[in-house]
Amino acid sequence: MKNYLTASISESAVRHNISVLRKRIGPDVKLCPVVKDDCFGHGMDILFPVLAECTDGFAVAAPMEALELRSKGYHGFILCFLSAYFDDFKVQDELVWQEITQTVMSKSALDSIEKAARRVGKPARVHLKVDTGMGRLGVPATQAGDLIAAIQESANVELSGIYTHFATADEQDRTATQNQLDLFRSILPEQGGVTIHAANSAATLDWPETHFDMVRMGIAIYGCHPSDHMRNRADLKPCMSVKAKLISVKHMREGSRSGYGLTHEFNRDSRVGIVPIGYGDGYFRSLSGQAVVRINGRNAPVCGRVSMDQMTVDVTDITDAKVGDEVEIISADPSAPNCVENLARLAGTIPYEITCHLGHNMRHRLVD
Ligand SMILES: *Cc1c(COP(=O)(O)O)cnc(C)c1O
Repeated sequence: MKNYLTASISESAVRHNISVLRKRIGPDVKLCPVVKDDCFGHGMDILFPVLAECTDGFAVAAPMEALELRSKGYHGFILCFLSAYFDDFKVQDELVWQEITQTVMSKSALDSIEKAARRVGKPARVHLKVDTGMGRLGVPATQAGDLIAAIQESANVELSGIYTHFATADEQDRTATQNQLDLFRSILPEQGGVTIHAANSAATLDWPETHFDMVRMGIAIYGCHPSDHMRNRADLKPCMSVKAKLISVKHMREGSRSGYGLTHEFNRDSRVGIVPIGYGDGYFRSLSGQAVVRINGRNAPVCGRVSMDQMTVDVTDITDAKVGDEVEIISADPSAPNCVENLARLAGTIPYEITCHLGHNMRHRLVD
């Protein structure tokens, strides 16, 4: 962890996003924040108390993430998307013991949860995941009825929810999502009593008919839109900004070059600043020569190749730039050229990947 790099997370932005999203789903639908991968790189340690206060549970990917939430003293609903590894009996038992809601997607997964519940002497609570067209984890819709029956027959496993996941809810073409929704509806049992959920951030914003009993939202809570074409769907505020400091400033003669491959040539006498962040810290190498950082409110283009732990920025036009000045790597202002969504576009990826990568190697700080 590099303590000279800081990701500042705005508590008021997160609370604002949750209140906007709550208004969308209404009072009868639960809001379950998806906090996998350290809250998409925003930092579980600092966001946990905020989210625990204003949401209805948590969803994580890995079993260890679920157990970590329990170790923070959280007693509420936790849904885990992935199972404990098939031969990891210790974690299987721990999930039952700690009352984590596990995902069942096959008969063999059900069997191992049933066995763990017997070993532990406690019933296990599960949600069934149905593959309605995403073609990833989940029981094929045609076999969902059989698996529901098998869960209901098992002595120590209790079915408390059924869910699916959309592959294209963030796209303009609505066909595939409509097909997934129709198929999902067709496999839902007639008797109630289980929590039905399907919507991710994109579906929550664009498909009110997918809200059912609960929505699972990640990216929107952190203030980014799921895709470019959804940019104006809701008044979301990005909550992350990332800062570093200039550690060196020097003059470069016209015609000199910088960085691996000497790809960048200065076409005038220039001043270059060195910033101690690189692709090892999650700043994409593909942003070389593409992105800008901001220093004293001015743009400084990233020039030359981004290295593992440092990069060079052109500060020729920022005449007062000096060692120790703050460098804004990511801006929380959605109209800034270095906002997450813009960096994602320049790097040819999605906002999710930008925040996940940048979050790992730096200090997180909760700010207003
Ligand atoms: C990651 C994930 C989500 C959250 O998706 P967003 O697009 O960030 O809202 C919801 N459901 C499942 C199953 C996921 O894996």
